[in-house]
Amino acid sequence: MPELPEVETIRIGLAKLLPGLIVKSVEHDWPKSFPNAPADVKQFLVGAEVKHVHRRAKVLIIELSSNYSLIIHLKMTGQLVFVGKKRFGAGHPNNDLIAELPAKSTRATIGFTDGSRLYFNDQRKFGWMRLLPTIEIPEIDFFKRVGPEPLEDGFTAKDFIARLQRRARSSIKAAILDQTVLAGVGNIYADESLWEAKIHPATLVADVPKAKLVALHQAIIDILKLSIEKGGSTDRNYVDSQGKRGSYLAFANVFRKEGQPCPRCGTTIEKIRVAGRGTHYCPREQKLPKDKP
Ligand SMILES: [Zn+2]
Repeated sequence: MPELPEVETIRIGLAKLLPGLIVKSVEHDWPKSFPNAPADVKQFLVGAEVKHVHRRAKVLIIELSSNYSLIIHLKMTGQLVFVGKKRFGAGHPNNDLIAELPAKSTRATIGFTDGSRLYFNDQRKFGWMRLLPTIEIPEIDFFKRVGPEPLEDGFTAKDFIARLQRRARSSIKAAILDQTVLAGVGNIYADESLWEAKIHPATLVADVPKAKLVALHQAIIDILKLSIEKGGSTDRNYVDSQGKRGSYLAFANVFRKEGQPCPRCGTTIEKIRVAGRGTHYCPREQKLPKDKP
């Protein structure tokens, strides 16, 4: 599943390419992937100019001059590929990022008046592209409930700790995966940031010392930023030089590194289950409070 840094990588790429383009045609082949009334598409999408490309949590928002926006959730296997004078693709790292399009996975194609196209590909069809009045977006249940953006200036350690306290009796990993606590931290970044801050993922929030929560806040920001930097590759080297696992895994310290030495202390990384998710940690540096002598 694309995580926040990948979705932000897509946003950065599309924000350089889409604004100013005018929609000429729309094709789609799967109603759930493009659940929009034909009359709305005709009135508010075709003929509209792209104004901005935003992101909130893992959702992309393409704002149009018609006062409507396209809301895109990539879910498990979604990807967006722009083909024009330049080509840019990101999201689920399979070969359709660089293949001739439309492909078998193409669910929707948006054609622009200059001949360029935006392809929404999604093999498993869990993602979607919805057209909504821009003014209604903040009222959508998801946007109302989702927590602060970790990369915005307003995301302070104080606010982070206050939000975590609402989940004082859950594990720290479950708490940072909770999208109402903060937006967009998925399994990889949870494991990486807890390793960075030396916190056992199963520790109850109430048992984590404040200094470690402050360190965790900084670790989340640093890791997401680094990942966005690394994800800023083009479609071609995204697939070719990093392989199909995606570029964000190339710099991971613990995620999927079970059986390998911890890069800090050399202890063998272990994999356990926390919050229902496969969880990777260093058993020497990330101890539960009761493990302490
Ligand atoms: Zn270690």
